[in-house]
Amino acid sequence: MKIFKSKHKLQKEILNIKNISFVPTMGGLHKGHISLIKKSKTFKGKNLVSIFVNPKQFNRKKDFTTYPRNLKKDLALLKRLKVDFIYLPTHKDIFSFRPRNKIFIDKFSKKLCGKSRKGHFEGVLNVVNRFLEIINPKYIFLGVKDFQQLYLINKHILKRKINTKIVPCKIIREKNGVVCSTRNNNLNKNQFNTASNVYSYLRNIKKLIKRELYNIDIINIKKNLIKLGVKNVDYIEFFNLNTLKKPKNKKEKFKIFVAYYLNNVRLIDNI
Ligand code: AMP
Repeated sequence: MKIFKSKHKLQKEILNIKNISFVPTMGGLHKGHISLIKKSKTFKGKNLVSIFVNPKQFNRKKDFTTYPRNLKKDLALLKRLKVDFIYLPTHKDIFSFRPRNKIFIDKFSKKLCGKSRKGHFEGVLNVVNRFLEIINPKYIFLGVKDFQQLYLINKHILKRKINTKIVPCKIIREKNGVVCSTRNNNLNKNQFNTASNVYSYLRNIKKLIKRELYNIDIINIKKNLIKLGVKNVDYIEFFNLNTLKKPKNKKEKFKIFVAYYLNNVRLIDNI
């Protein structure tokens, strides 16, 4: 395992490597990240994991400062997983150059998380665009947990004709159904249980809709989430993944997208 803090040294090392499988992360590694890394290891070539808590994608300063970090633990884990390269850039290393490609922001960025987190996806795309230029990976591994992020990065890659293929990775959950997330470190036991109840409730709603036993009633669902102990529902929306619109008939496949607060911790999921 080789660790790099400077893009020049990293680029020198990987210059002649054809197939780089890249897993970008913000650290605070958990089972979700591990599944991406394990998947990247099944691809030919070398794998590279980055850890960078990107300040530009946080719309609240407090959220950035309280984001859980544990570099020592992360590095020990990455060593156990036998990752080839680790990139731990400084802020300057990432932002001190002008990238070749301008970021492309699809209109889907205005929906879901884009509504309440102003500038969030611009911040994500800004940094991913820079990583892609520095590393030029053959593959980038992204979790479906952050569906909107994955969708927008894909649109950017296609629009700018970037030579990197996205490998979407399935959502990893805790035993109680809660989606694995670095932010779970900021939940207490009660809140963690509430998150589990939210998951069970929404899964049940989805089943009832599929069996035609429930008509989508967002106001009622929000009320019930509050009853379960949610402080505030940022959004809850139903989308057909092909049309990105609310399903019109019962036969359409759909997913429930949700973002909510337990105290000051914002959690997202798609079910
Ligand atoms: P993050 O460190 O939260 O920025 O996440 C880094 C990558 O891991 C992103 O592509 C996420 O979508 C993915 N990821 C985070 N949590 C999970 C999870 N529970 N299951 C699968 N992928 C995840």
